[in-house]
Amino acid sequence: MIALSLAEIAEVVGGQTHDIPDPSVLVTGEVVRDSREAGPGSLFVAFVGERVDGHDFAAQVVEAGAVAVLASRPVGVPAIVVEDVQAALGALARHVVARLGATLVALTGSAGKTSTKDLVAQVLGNKAPTVFTPGSLNNEIGLPLTALTATEDTRFLVLEMGARGIGHIRYLTGLTPPRIGLVLNVGSAHIGEFGGREQIAQAKGELVESLPPAEEGGVAILNADDPYVRAMASRTKAKVILFGESGEADVSAENVRLTDSGQPSFRLHTPSGASDVTMRLYGEHHVSNALAAAAVAHELGMSADEIARALSEAGSLSRWRMEVTERPDGVTVVNDAYNANPESMKAALRALAAMGKGRRTWAVLGKMAELGDEALAEHDAVGRLAVRLNVSKLVAVGGREAAWLQLGAYNEGSWGEESVHVSDAQAAVDLLRSELRPGDVVLVKASRSVGLESVAQALLETG
Ligand code: ATP
Ligand code: MG
Repeated sequence: MIALSLAEIAEVVGGQTHDIPDPSVLVTGEVVRDSREAGPGSLFVAFVGERVDGHDFAAQVVEAGAVAVLASRPVGVPAIVVEDVQAALGALARHVVARLGATLVALTGSAGKTSTKDLVAQVLGNKAPTVFTPGSLNNEIGLPLTALTATEDTRFLVLEMGARGIGHIRYLTGLTPPRIGLVLNVGSAHIGEFGGREQIAQAKGELVESLPPAEEGGVAILNADDPYVRAMASRTKAKVILFGESGEADVSAENVRLTDSGQPSFRLHTPSGASDVTMRLYGEHHVSNALAAAAVAHELGMSADEIARALSEAGSLSRWRMEVTERPDGVTVVNDAYNANPESMKAALRALAAMGKGRRTWAVLGKMAELGDEALAEHDAVGRLAVRLNVSKLVAVGGREAAWLQLGAYNEGSWGEESVHVSDAQAAVDLLRSELRPGDVVLVKASRSVGLESVAQALLETG
């Protein structure tokens, strides 16, 4: 964080100082919520969680060098005491980003936020110092903590914003107001909680409503291929830039294809020129993510050649997302077990089909959570797609939803033996261990709660 005195922090968050002999002492280190990350010069934020109370670690973090604790009650060591720690953290982030010279880029969408955020950060990082959300820390706590890691040198601050309901994005943009806002897609992630796609669009569109008008530099970057996202153009005063696979978008792709290893390659078109891209990431869904990142980079002054080079070099920064590992015996394991929703399931199956040309392909799939009334139809559709893509074997893992996956596959083709339903991850591992042959490609994917990465890990351990 930029160095701030305890007195200034107390004023910004409207807190009382307790046990602080010298309020002019500076916080020069990080703002942290995990006591194990507290180091010299840091500020520790004490949250009361379900299992642990951060206040219990106050003495320990000060011992480790923390300057003070942001707390909701006095703790016997230097503390700034507020009523609401989360609100105080947000106020601090808002204060700090207003003092930074950095351009704030925020992005949201149903699928691909983290992948795209990582791409944007890697592309912009080639141009100037860039700070970005680590992993998926995209909520009311992770977002301000990320923003607070920026320093005077930071030129670009790239923030992932997640929404689980109306008003969430508005709250986040209030903490860290972006100049550039990017909306990727409106899919069915969390559709059960939201109550429908219209509501999801309503919630995600809050990002572009928050942007400054075009005259003040506001830019809304919208996916032309997604009608719900495209329609958000009418909800913003910012300049609108469209990205999409069709040529009518401002930033588009031509000659899109997957290489034999499943990596997208295409000719990138931006308003300032065209250049060829071959990605290191797997799956055609990354074309859309790459175009989104290219649109951001174009707006921030990068040429088509610079962008194409950066996109071609960008790797995955976050684990369990299409992580491709080849075993010594030639079996390829594709670990995409971080999460799943209908869009990402279909994209991953297509990538598997491309990677598996001439090889046996296995789709080890589990449930997609939080789909509400659409759950049956969506699992059925994924099972059917596996057949249509000629995936050699479907292993559906888990309870009711897995049964729907298998039934979809069964009803689509005359698949009998090729699709199996097993009760849990261990059963899937046992089956695969006995049946995998050199050269096979195995995709592993389900919602986070299923924890299917254990299957991928087990397969790699026994390679
Ligand atoms: P979360 O809401 O969990 O933070 P996210 O929006 O950050 O998710 P990622 O973590 O980037 O999304 O990707 C989640 C899954 O979606 C991965 O399996 C990934 O391969 C897939 N995916 C990435 N980009 C897209 C896209 N544009 N369309 C569909 N699926 C995608
Ligand atoms: Mg994410």
